[in-house]
Amino acid sequence: MKKIAARPDATEPAVPRYLPGDKIAVLLPLPLAGTYDYRVAEAMTLAAGDFITVPLGARKAIGVVWGKAEGGVPEAKLKDVIGRLDCPALPDVSRAFVDWTARYTLSAPGAVLKMVMSVPDALTPPKPVLAYTLNPKPAPFKQTKARERILAILGEGPPRPAAELAREAGTGTGVVKGLVDAGALIPVNRPARAPGPEPDWRLPGPDLSTDQKKAARLMQTAVGEGVFSVTLLDGVPGSGKTEVYFQAVASALEQGGQVLVLLPEIALGAQWLGRFKDRFGAAPGQWHSDLTAAQRRHTWRAVAEGHTKVVVGARSALFLPFADLRLIVVDEEHDASFKQEDGVIYNARDMAVVRAQLGAIPIVLASATPSLETVLNAQSGRYRIEHLPDRHAGAALPEIATIDMRAEEMPSQCWVSPTLQAALAATFTNGEQAMLFLNRRGYAPLTLCRTCGHRMQCPNCTAWLVEHRRGGRLQCHHCGFGAPPPKQCPECEKEGSFAACGPGVERLAEEVAVLFPDARTVIAASDTLAGPKAAADLVRRIEDHDVDLIIGTQVVAKGYHFPLLTLVGAVDADLGLAGGDLRAAERTHQLLYQVAGRAGRAGRAGRVLLQTYMPEHPVMKALKEGSRDGFLKAEAESRRAAMMPPFGRLAAVIVSGPDEAAVDAIARMLGRAAPTGDGITVLGPAPAPMALLRGNHRRRLLLKTAKTTNLQAVLREWLARVQPPRKVRVQADVDPYSFL
Ligand code: ADP
Ligand code: ZN
Repeated sequence: MKKIAARPDATEPAVPRYLPGDKIAVLLPLPLAGTYDYRVAEAMTLAAGDFITVPLGARKAIGVVWGKAEGGVPEAKLKDVIGRLDCPALPDVSRAFVDWTARYTLSAPGAVLKMVMSVPDALTPPKPVLAYTLNPKPAPFKQTKARERILAILGEGPPRPAAELAREAGTGTGVVKGLVDAGALIPVNRPARAPGPEPDWRLPGPDLSTDQKKAARLMQTAVGEGVFSVTLLDGVPGSGKTEVYFQAVASALEQGGQVLVLLPEIALGAQWLGRFKDRFGAAPGQWHSDLTAAQRRHTWRAVAEGHTKVVVGARSALFLPFADLRLIVVDEEHDASFKQEDGVIYNARDMAVVRAQLGAIPIVLASATPSLETVLNAQSGRYRIEHLPDRHAGAALPEIATIDMRAEEMPSQCWVSPTLQAALAATFTNGEQAMLFLNRRGYAPLTLCRTCGHRMQCPNCTAWLVEHRRGGRLQCHHCGFGAPPPKQCPECEKEGSFAACGPGVERLAEEVAVLFPDARTVIAASDTLAGPKAAADLVRRIEDHDVDLIIGTQVVAKGYHFPLLTLVGAVDADLGLAGGDLRAAERTHQLLYQVAGRAGRAGRAGRVLLQTYMPEHPVMKALKEGSRDGFLKAEAESRRAAMMPPFGRLAAVIVSGPDEAAVDAIARMLGRAAPTGDGITVLGPAPAPMALLRGNHRRRLLLKTAKTTNLQAVLREWLARVQPPRKVRVQADVDPYSFL
């Protein structure tokens, strides 16, 4: 049953109209402070949300009618709106969302609008394509074999463009033209892109287990209520979270609404898309960085017009102009990649909750390792929670053990311990698959000169150059700088003196090739899996058992389901614990738990071995003992004691620029102007851990407040006290995730 009473767009008064002469505020997709005033031109009626063209200096710009003009611009200076674009108006909810996001992140509303208007081409309707169809009453004309083929094709199918017809008939376009000239074919306009089939909610899903059914029912109820609610779907890996939220998707589709599913990295979507298609009979709309301009244009427009019902995408999909969004799902809600770190700095998971609230719709957060923030929100009753404690079809959770590396005999330049080697051997003998997890791309993370100790560093960043032996280059993972390894040391000029330090996945593959020459090994890292197609290919090879061993970084840590994979070895489980990151322990726990969840997903028992030098560390103990909730509790206690998020609030201020002295000067000024008050602390300025990034010097300050403080107000007032020169950038990062 469609419940409309609770939906704001149905209860709000009609959208205000603006008539000729009315003064309106227009938001432009530019990083400007606010809206600009314009006047509605003769014979023009506009409504809030309309996309319009306006004069801006000497040029024309596209903007959105934001509301009534604030006033202040003298009548004589007001310029007329040029015209209205043929595009659905930006809905109220989307506009409110732009304003909200801008306020929360301290960004210019225009910068947020720019994310909404990411495909300016989509603001005009697609041009129809010229196609040809049979003339029902043709005059007599000469027949040839090629002409007959074309007529036959059109006799069976819809109108087609000349080039397509010629291709199908295996002839030239001249033959088509000849038929047109002879009056046998007539031109018709066809939409640029025929709408594809939409997902069908009527198709039956799998039979759900009792727990799954209960969770699905709760979510379907939430969709039916049509009011804002947040549901945490907390289930162990392989428990069927995806199947369960698919039921909620079906309910939203049944209502005729749209659905947005956010996934962390679209490379993970290969299997997901296949499952969606199996469940709903058609692919969803997709939104990620790997689309062509034409695909973007089509999807943006189809979403705005309400034709595309389901969109699966990376974080930026949140800013699509949904005509009638009824459900949001954030899968792997804890994932750090939902945090956008440049431009408008926002966390898509958090903003998705806001979007749901503004739209008065339900949102589902799914994870096997929900973030501390989300867990506490569930415990306090702000979020509903559904548990799926068991793997589907009785598959057992893998047994997790640590390997104490202090007790293992490790020859130098080797990283796979004898214990892990034995486990790998047993796995291969059983005809099963294994995964070695090492969150480091390339061959070696550091290259140094054996003679003088010189370390190869990026000229633009505070970072070592990572050797990628397959590509024959030293590379910076931060700015993209790359160079072939030099023949001699740039410091002492000694030749052939370089040594690779530490392992990356490439080097690990080398070690394994010596240990297990017969094992068929693949490396799965973001640089070896460029794009969804490569990922889909790899998934198929693993599913077909063309691969015995996967050596992977975090790109294979989550989401995947490989029935034959029974052993997961974390080569350096301690890797993420180094550094003073607020969430280092939480993130390491999540990552290792996710990786562990790849093992033994279908009937065969899974085993996970964590190589660690700190087997007593709370993260390792929690994993070993399977006490995720105990770990979260301890983590919450230590955050509470330090008044760190989510018990206090944080914002980072990053000062950067090419001129170090100027950056320092502004950072110091900010330090002197730091806010004071109850529960307010400012740390810094201090050089950022990445003190140099892409050629920019960086300093950091950290603002910490009590949970009840209006952090944005404090931050805004503070930043307004210092006017940086053009060459210095001051960026606010509210709720920082990266402390680099
Ligand atoms: P999660 O998202 O919790 O990791 P999935 O939804 O990926 O779990 O489910 C794991 C596997 O079990 C998938 O292959 C899925 O199709 C299967 N599965 C889960 N629930 C059911 C069910 N009720 N009937 C059939 N297969 C199921
Ligand atoms: Zn660099």
